[in-house]
Amino acid sequence: MPTCLITAANRGIGYELARAALDSGWTVYGSVRTQQSADETAERLGKDFHPLVFDVRDHAAVHAVAGDLDTPLNLLINNAGIITPERQSALDMDFKGFAETLAVNTLAPLAVSQAFLPHLRRSGSGRILTISSQMAWMGYRKSDTLAYRASKAAVNKVMQGLATDLESEGIPVALIDPGWVRTDMGGQQADNDPVDVARGVLKIAGSLSVTDTGKFFKWSGEERPF
Ligand code: NDP
Repeated sequence: MPTCLITAANRGIGYELARAALDSGWTVYGSVRTQQSADETAERLGKDFHPLVFDVRDHAAVHAVAGDLDTPLNLLINNAGIITPERQSALDMDFKGFAETLAVNTLAPLAVSQAFLPHLRRSGSGRILTISSQMAWMGYRKSDTLAYRASKAAVNKVMQGLATDLESEGIPVALIDPGWVRTDMGGQQADNDPVDVARGVLKIAGSLSVTDTGKFFKWSGEERPF
């Protein structure tokens, strides 16, 4: 049975990714931040869901959990993300919040990918998807939510680098733009249902090959510009 790890599986897009993967017969590991969240999420998702407790900012914890996990992984989805702080324009920046945003949205996907690389290698068909955002697009000259935009533009670059370094091993790495999604982050007025987005992302994961490595895809499957 194929096995995947999805970060932040307790709510939002991550929860729907876990649900869709379970529906398709995957064994699903999902990260959550507390034992209470682990228990609640496992209760909702059922017996083929295995919660792993770590905060993606805590690289030591991520590596410790990875070290204890004895299973090959066919797929890693870096999904955890934040859009704080409140003040994040170029002329009024909360720098502590900016650093926090970079820690979760940019540094963590690389740290988690490194930690679980042995598991992805072991499966012989490992692949990595990272949930980025259309807000990373360099064509926008917008200055609102600048910390978030910068963190997603940076993770695109980081994952492109990882894609290059893993190409010779046949491990594809790609980025996903989920559009504007109805979650706590996106709000209820957003365009996309997280259930549809999750199905789309899993479809991409299923067909991802090393010829796609380093690319940025819309959730619906088309390649998009950085
Ligand atoms: P939500 O705000 O609904 O959920 C965020 C998830 O990230 C929660 O599970 C949260 O866990 C987790 N998380 C936050 N910080 C950490 C951390 N330090 N360690 C571990 N987990 C953490 O967001 P979405 O589901 O909407 O977003 C998922 C991804 O999609 C993000 O990367 C986001 O940037 C991206 N995205 C979303 C869009 C949208 O419109 N919704 C648009 C474009 C991209 P907890 O419950 O413990 O806080």
